[in-house]
Amino acid sequence: MQTEIVVIGSGVAATALITKILAERPNTSITVLEAGGKIKLRDWALFQNYLITNKLPFDNQNIYDSCHDLSYPDRDKPGENKFEGDTEIPMVGARAFLYGGSTVHWGGWSFRLKPEDFQLRTSLKNKGIAPGDVIDWPFGYEEMEPYYHEAEHFIGVSGDSEDTTTPRSGKYPFPAFPFTLEDGLFIDAFKKFTEPVSYSHLPIARYGDTHANNSHGPCHTTGLCKYCPFGARFAAANNLDDLVQSARYPHLQILTNAIADEILMDSKTHATGVKYLNQKNGAWETIHANIIINAAGAIEGAKLLQRSALDRWKNGIGNDYDLVGRFLITHPYFFYKAVLPANPQMLQPEMGFPTLVSRYYDSPAEQHKGKFILVNPPSSPKVNLARSMSNGKTRDEIIKSIQTNTTVQLQGLIEVFSDRRNRVVNSEKKNRFGMRETKIDFYKSGDFDNRMKEVEAITKTIFGHMNAVDPGIENAISWRADHAACTTRMSNSPEEGVVNPDLKVHGTSNIYMCSNAVFSSLGAVNPTLTLTALSLRLGSHLLNQLKA
Ligand SMILES: Cc1cc2nc3c(=O)[nH]c(=O)nc-3n(C[C@H](O)[C@H](O)[C@H](O)COP(=O)(O)OP(=O)(O)OC[C@H]3O[C@@H](n4cnc5c(N)ncnc54)[C@H](O)[C@@H]3O)c2cc1C
Ligand code: SF4
Repeated sequence: MQTEIVVIGSGVAATALITKILAERPNTSITVLEAGGKIKLRDWALFQNYLITNKLPFDNQNIYDSCHDLSYPDRDKPGENKFEGDTEIPMVGARAFLYGGSTVHWGGWSFRLKPEDFQLRTSLKNKGIAPGDVIDWPFGYEEMEPYYHEAEHFIGVSGDSEDTTTPRSGKYPFPAFPFTLEDGLFIDAFKKFTEPVSYSHLPIARYGDTHANNSHGPCHTTGLCKYCPFGARFAAANNLDDLVQSARYPHLQILTNAIADEILMDSKTHATGVKYLNQKNGAWETIHANIIINAAGAIEGAKLLQRSALDRWKNGIGNDYDLVGRFLITHPYFFYKAVLPANPQMLQPEMGFPTLVSRYYDSPAEQHKGKFILVNPPSSPKVNLARSMSNGKTRDEIIKSIQTNTTVQLQGLIEVFSDRRNRVVNSEKKNRFGMRETKIDFYKSGDFDNRMKEVEAITKTIFGHMNAVDPGIENAISWRADHAACTTRMSNSPEEGVVNPDLKVHGTSNIYMCSNAVFSSLGAVNPTLTLTALSLRLGSHLLNQLKA
């Protein structure tokens, strides 16, 4: 099989890139290889089931489960999904192997990085910290700004266009969701600090119907949206459907259950195609292409380079400096709870997503310690009305139970820095998909625990200002690999990273990486808006190449 461009993976990175190229060049022949299968979205039955049982589809033994990342029960056997270092980075629940990739079950939080995030090495040096393995991005915020704007329109972000947290040249496509009544408690507490803690509307991809070429429904703000039945919540699979079903793009094809195993090369620099396992017939097949886009995610994308073209590159493509898979970062996600002794206003979650964020500590002043954001998550006070009623509770009893003590939460992400020791590599063993399992080595930095004590003290002060009581905290940190990044980081030179500023693998002429793997550093916020912006930027670059 021959195609102009082969794309490995069908997540948001691939989808934004393909959309960009096809908009200008509708006849481009593009083949997507997707390891997973297809599931039905905009599914009322699934949605109703979720409302009744309050269980996410991924929790059950159903079709979603078969596409979910594997639980790797035998991960502790030597050499198989082994976690080394001092910190386990769980992968279960951290990604989805399916048509449309992980945005099928993401949260939609869609932040821009701040200007200083693009200059981490420079910023840390100014703070007297030895920069170590940390680098600057090869370009700054100004370069990204127009692509951020385009990305916000692509994924349909609702946000506050007057928010000055990050400079912007244009408005969000949709207005911010209003703060909830419960947000008001946090806002009052932020204002009680000697220097008030700033806050803003959390930008969230929720509104649908963003441009002429998609068939998303507009958001109905029912707030129960993990599996939005209207298709308003962005999931790349919906956009892919629009592309595939359009008669404008006759040469786009998406092969599901097709696992890329190796990128093939006819010289050290030039790739010719991809060898993949067609799970539908169990056969090994090859697709030839002029341009190879590796959009398989930060973990699988790095592993694919490592196991490819070993006759030309001893340690895998782009890996002469042993950097592929290294510098792995993910976000430690912290969550703290407290109890309000009474809830006279009967506050209940109004949306199934957060509406308030504070980026006060996501600032240059905090950068050397690890910036962080604070979010009031949805579903903090929880009273199951349907269950109470079916248990025979009267209206008065239910009201009384709502007005008594209630739990409030603060959650957040904290920035950690690159460390050469932290990496992903292929295990010899294959999982039940036929994909190579993963070995992750990860060490948290020596000062991380102290930083977390500072974060905890700040959240406790906020709760104190709300007169909420600390109920005792367990397991306040999750290191899950949801935001895995930086494993083939972008750099000006191959001695410092794996891809160049155009996302092309150093030392190759036609292999591009398109995933969180290319981030030079991760910042304190969720990565996907930045990833989408980078994908659109890569689209512009490739269109110029194709014209030439
Ligand atoms: C529970 C959860 C919540 C999240 N919430 C947010 C959020 O609120 N905001 C935010 O910014 N980010 C969030 N994220 C992160 C976000 O989902 C990712 O940043 C984003 O989806 C990455 O997109 P991608 O296209 O690079 O990868 P993916 O969407 O993971 O797509 C990669 C695709 O490649 C396929 N693939 C992998 N290996 C191969 C192979 N060898 N051959 C063929 N195909 C292959 C996979 O099956 C997959 O479909 C969340 C993640 C999780 C897990
Ligand atoms: S609030 Fe919006 S995104 Fe969520 S389920 Fe309703 S329509 Fe879908």
